[in-house]
Amino acid sequence: MSVEYRVDLDAFARNLTRVREAVAPAQHMLVVKDDAYAHGIDEIVRRATAEGVSWFGAFDVETGRAVRAVAGPDARIFVWLLGGADDLAAGVASGLDLGIGDEALLDDLAALPTPAAPARVHLKIDTGLHRNGIRPERWGAALERLSDLVAAGTARFEGLWSHIAEASDADDDDAREIFLAARDAAVEAGLTPRLSHLAASAAGFARASFREDLVRVGAFSYGIRPAGGPGEPELGIEPISALTATVTSVGADAVRVDVGHLHGLPSALQGRFSVATPGGPRRVLAIEPTWSIVEGWTDAEPGDEVTVFGREGVASATDLAELIDTIGEEIALRVSSCVPRRYTPNGPRSAR
Ligand SMILES: *Cc1c(COP(=O)(O)O)cnc(C)c1O
Repeated sequence: MSVEYRVDLDAFARNLTRVREAVAPAQHMLVVKDDAYAHGIDEIVRRATAEGVSWFGAFDVETGRAVRAVAGPDARIFVWLLGGADDLAAGVASGLDLGIGDEALLDDLAALPTPAAPARVHLKIDTGLHRNGIRPERWGAALERLSDLVAAGTARFEGLWSHIAEASDADDDDAREIFLAARDAAVEAGLTPRLSHLAASAAGFARASFREDLVRVGAFSYGIRPAGGPGEPELGIEPISALTATVTSVGADAVRVDVGHLHGLPSALQGRFSVATPGGPRRVLAIEPTWSIVEGWTDAEPGDEVTVFGREGVASATDLAELIDTIGEEIALRVSSCVPRRYTPNGPRSAR
């Protein structure tokens, strides 16, 4: 035994059911960027496909192709980081849904050899985050370009989308106004998107008017609640994973376990949280590169297992995040790729 990241795929399936219920009648797009928030993209996509998830949010073309390989030809796979003409061509060839937030990419698309099937374009309006997206003052020009592509059979106007901060309802409301105005302008220009999508986990759960046709849900699908927000029971979700470690030696008042900051446990958490042990919750006294020191318990012995965080632990990823002013995703993403993932039910242990 040694340090492991355990992923309970049945718990994941229960979250998927819950997310689907919460965003209905909109569809759930499962966001799988960052190796499915470090849970391992292959197993996550395989189970999600078996559970009927048909939309995936894959971030970039490389990830999109990885999803395609597991999810099969019918899955809809949305990517929104396109690095230029070659990337765009690869995305079109893999039948991906392309999130385009840059006019230059429309030119790149026009310059491609006419694809066998029109490229599925989701045009992004910048509603205030300024990450990327077409600025409102350029929206009309972008629509004209898209119109030409649609007329030439090169593109289909599949979606209109944006991303919002989900930090304040008032800011999100302003963003939504810009979004709706962009859609009106498109319809007026003769371009009606088949789908609209705006919200991620938080607004998708809390605000019906933001759900549109699709809600891009990452965090809540994996049972990661928002820092400073509602708890898991209130949201109806559960953590799907746990970081576990093993006692390697026992001292007078403390034990050593084989997880440290090189495995992804932030040193700043030292002395600030408890792990679940066979003797009950015990405080983590020190975090070293490859081991930690934990308060001891009666009859502790080498080979005993502790749950550092997550399912059946004392703290969730977000509980730990709140101690050091970050978000649960950050704690999950830090779990090093050198930590083997183990999947239940009946999943193999896999080194990545
Ligand atoms: C990460 C991301 C999401 C998912 O956000 P969560 O809060 O994890 O649900 C949705 N849309 C975009 C564009 C993203 O980058």
